[in-house]
Amino acid sequence: MLFKQVAGNNNIKEILIQQVQKNRVSHAQLFFGPEGSGCLAMALAFARYICCHQKQENDSCGACSSCIKFDKLVHPDFHMVFPVNSRNSASKITTCDELLTDWRSMLLNHPYFNLFDWLKSLGIENKQGNISAEEGTNIIRKLNLTTYEGGYKIMLIWLPECMHPTTANRLLKILEEPPEKTVFILVTESPEQLLSTIKSRVQAIRFRPLSQSEMSFFLQNELELSQEKSEGVAALSDGNLNLAIKLAQEDSFIKKDIADFLDWMRICYSLNIPKLLEWVNNMSELGRENQKNFISRTLQFLRQALLLNLKLPGLVNLSEEEKAQLIKFSPFVHAFNSDDMYEALDKAYYALERNAHAKMLFLNLSFKIGRLLNRRVNKQVA
Ligand SMILES: [Zn+2]
Repeated sequence: MLFKQVAGNNNIKEILIQQVQKNRVSHAQLFFGPEGSGCLAMALAFARYICCHQKQENDSCGACSSCIKFDKLVHPDFHMVFPVNSRNSASKITTCDELLTDWRSMLLNHPYFNLFDWLKSLGIENKQGNISAEEGTNIIRKLNLTTYEGGYKIMLIWLPECMHPTTANRLLKILEEPPEKTVFILVTESPEQLLSTIKSRVQAIRFRPLSQSEMSFFLQNELELSQEKSEGVAALSDGNLNLAIKLAQEDSFIKKDIADFLDWMRICYSLNIPKLLEWVNNMSELGRENQKNFISRTLQFLRQALLLNLKLPGLVNLSEEEKAQLIKFSPFVHAFNSDDMYEALDKAYYALERNAHAKMLFLNLSFKIGRLLNRRVNKQVA
């Protein structure tokens, strides 16, 4: 991963390049930002740049012996730690070295995935990802090795919030008195879950969600998507490149359109069975990421409708036209059905992630949403 291959975040690239150029690489850094903002991709490009033997002004050379090792993520001075778990009780996995091959191929495919994607690729998406106490011993052992190429030793820790407390404590001590020429790069989506004692020892760099144009540029250049499809997918993905990459892999996608949402709400409310069956058929033919994204958007629209109903329009981030449409619909979402609707949609999202049968799921979900939309406001209780 070269800097030029990392989507957007040019200001952060500049900061990191300057650190190296000025020989002021800070020994412990925390890259944090929302899913799909590219923290992990940037960490890979940064590590490569630190180790490159023929650094260019703005990027690694891509051709030296260090870069060639980074092409396969097998540089001996670059260590990676990430959450793992066992596939079954027979083969117990406690440290990430045992899954390094899977991890490298996941990263080489693209480094914008989330924890769920990683665990799913291992077939253990129902388990937690952990960085074990044994891993702490491994980290210290690796840092005590002499460097292979005489330069920096880099320790990338993906999702440090998954660390066992023993490992976190051992890490604290090293962060306080780091071995010479050692760089820690911690990468997380949830800095609030990190111990404050760790946060106070690292230099934090915040990644923002990518802009539509940054995502569209990446999709055209790195995934060779057409301009039209790149822009369509970017518009749907709310700055999350992980989602954009998944949507790009599907044949067609639903537009980010309030009309689609309102159509479904009308069909559910009126319980028009022929229309409902047609809608369910169409929806079930879309890919899973589209279906999940549609549910996420429905949740957003319902939350916004509730805010409008509660006369809190200041919190709603919509165009005037969309707002006008949503205001008309808003009386149908109120304190007596909103929580149940959110719960039904959350459950459906969760089931889709676990490969539920889409047709049955959307049929049942539509009936449930229809019943809830027809639930009256209980004025006595109100
Ligand atoms: Zn190089």
